[in-house]
Amino acid sequence: MDYSGRDIKYLKGVGPQRALLLNKELNIRSVEDLLYYFPYKYVDRSRFYRIKEINGQMPYIQIRGRIEYFSTTGEGRNKRLIAEFSDGTDTIELVWFKGIKFITNKYRPGEEYIVFGKPTLFGSHYNIAHPEIETVTENSLYGKALQPSYNTTERMKSSFLTSKNLHKIILPLLESLNREYPETLPMALRKKANLMEINEALWQIHNPTSPVSLREAQYRFKFEELFYLQLNILQRSVLRKEKIQGHVFTKVGNLFYSFYEKKLPFELTNAQKRVIKEIRNDFRTGKQMNRLLQGDVGSGKTLVALMIMLIAIDNGFQAALMAPTEILATQHFETLSTLLDGIGVNVALLTGSTKKKEREIIHTGLRNGDIHLLIGTHALIEDEVLFQHLGLAIIDEQHRFGVAQRARLWNKGTVAPHVLVMTATPIPRTLAMTFYGDLDVSVIDELPPGRKPIQTIHVFDGQRAGLYRSIRKQIELGRQVYIVYPLIKESENLDYKNLEDGFEHIKEIFPDYQVSMIHGKMKPAEKELQMARFVEGSAQILLATTVIEVGVNVPNASVMLIENAERFGLSQLHQLRGRVGRGAEQSYCILVTSDSISEETRKRIEVMTSTNDGFEIAEADLKMRGPGDLEGTQQSGIPINLHIANLAKDGQVLQYARDIATEILAADPQLSLQSNALLRKRLNDLFGKEVEWGQIS
Ligand code: ADP
Ligand code: MG
Repeated sequence: MDYSGRDIKYLKGVGPQRALLLNKELNIRSVEDLLYYFPYKYVDRSRFYRIKEINGQMPYIQIRGRIEYFSTTGEGRNKRLIAEFSDGTDTIELVWFKGIKFITNKYRPGEEYIVFGKPTLFGSHYNIAHPEIETVTENSLYGKALQPSYNTTERMKSSFLTSKNLHKIILPLLESLNREYPETLPMALRKKANLMEINEALWQIHNPTSPVSLREAQYRFKFEELFYLQLNILQRSVLRKEKIQGHVFTKVGNLFYSFYEKKLPFELTNAQKRVIKEIRNDFRTGKQMNRLLQGDVGSGKTLVALMIMLIAIDNGFQAALMAPTEILATQHFETLSTLLDGIGVNVALLTGSTKKKEREIIHTGLRNGDIHLLIGTHALIEDEVLFQHLGLAIIDEQHRFGVAQRARLWNKGTVAPHVLVMTATPIPRTLAMTFYGDLDVSVIDELPPGRKPIQTIHVFDGQRAGLYRSIRKQIELGRQVYIVYPLIKESENLDYKNLEDGFEHIKEIFPDYQVSMIHGKMKPAEKELQMARFVEGSAQILLATTVIEVGVNVPNASVMLIENAERFGLSQLHQLRGRVGRGAEQSYCILVTSDSISEETRKRIEVMTSTNDGFEIAEADLKMRGPGDLEGTQQSGIPINLHIANLAKDGQVLQYARDIATEILAADPQLSLQSNALLRKRLNDLFGKEVEWGQIS
């Protein structure tokens, strides 16, 4: 029996109309969909609360008592029905805004009821709006420890398809299955991972008999979900590695060595050495490299990029480095040109503002191989940019680029170039394993020596005077200061007004110093001029929107002041902070917020002031916001819709599922063994219809 093809409309209690509603609202079509629609929480109805115990922090609770009397207040749309409900310890108001007649007909003062709902404080009294009410005798759920709650939509509720009614559809369905629902995980795997059998698990998750068996059932489904996700991702990666050829860079040649021996301005950190080694190994395999390099801001990714590009050039290939903004591309160009000076590498810069004539010269140089190393922005992936022999493409600050853009890079040669994606937005392990599961991952987990940890300080708006005194002191010591303003998309003009007002304000406060200002709407030439003043030190203060977020490197800048810090996400704050702390001096990051802040803001600020570790911050961000919102995930292009597993919380399950998937694929990459037939079938059922993302890094 194939339950993924069996329409729910034939089920008892469903019918065509409800089936349509379930389709539309929850995307539930088949019996399988319905069975895999799990409760999102369970409420403990084993105990009754006493009304006098009720306080503001309570979730859904259950009380037992009698309605003393009904009354109504308000007129027309504001009309409300209120029942004074008492259990002998105290009274509470039950409130209805609609269905008044229905309620007064159905329930009678004096009779005993069980009332279920969430108490909220209204004025000085608690009430429960639109509670569920049951008579004590008819109440089948009464005394039941764990009652499931299913997410439902407003539409469903108004058609009386409530959580409770869903439960009433699912229970008879489970009965009718007679514990013969086909298992979706091979027996050997279930044994090994100690997973509950599917029929028992379905029963337990929809109708638990104890918290322990519920947990086992949930574990089984979390495992199942994450396991198939990983199996899918890993298999694609394994198959791609088998299929797709890569350039072989056999030698580490003259350029690399002469740079290493003569030009390298410092000793590489151990982490940098390790990563270079990992990449050199990739270059020798004959397979195309697809690697993600994660490293906190300031960890020295650019140098790694440079050295592996030299290996590509040593082997007769060209290399490209793509950056998300013009400022960053230009800065890379300048840094790398200086580092490579006199070594005989021909470097070019291609951005949106490269003049037509210059552009044509570059195009020619790329086609005939004169240019060895191209640095640029999006301009670099335009169709007319053709290389003679592109061997390695590096994408800096990956999260700014979408999948489609990476795919275009891919198409710039007959054999795909090796691809390295570098990101300073560390992605928590669980996310990396899911969204970039088919990329190999390298991590630079060590900062170059001699850096003093940045001190992060929270300052309220009202404490500005003191703040400005401290900043003046820093400038007097010869340091420079960034001041960043938030940009809200909806009202860009207003923001620039904020920035410009800020500019006037700062000039007034610091009349004896030079202040630069840059923002995204400026002409490139003007931006460059303003930036240059700051880089060379003739301006002491730089006001900016978040355009300076990525990459900009001014070691003498030791203060990062962020205005309206409550408007920024954690990872963005961390990125901004990474602009300072690059020199030998003590650096500061100052987060300015309004005088009253929300609980959530307070938490974010606390994370920022307590750690400098990008991975810790990324984990905290994941926990606070959930994976959907995290930077770097939306654009991964991999459609992932988790039913039960939670990437923020189920990291261990994910790791375990991934390990097992890896083992299985190592023995049988095509899943062609008879013992893996079920896995093959499930993968096909679950992911068969998707777009082929396997080709894309
Ligand atoms: P990011 O990883 O943020 O791109 P960068 O590559 O811009 O970091 O490096 C930040 C700074 O650290 C640069 O000024 C760079 O020259 C310096 N740097 C990189 N590697 C080392 C090292 N091994 N020792 C000392 N300084 C280094
Ligand atoms: Mg960088």
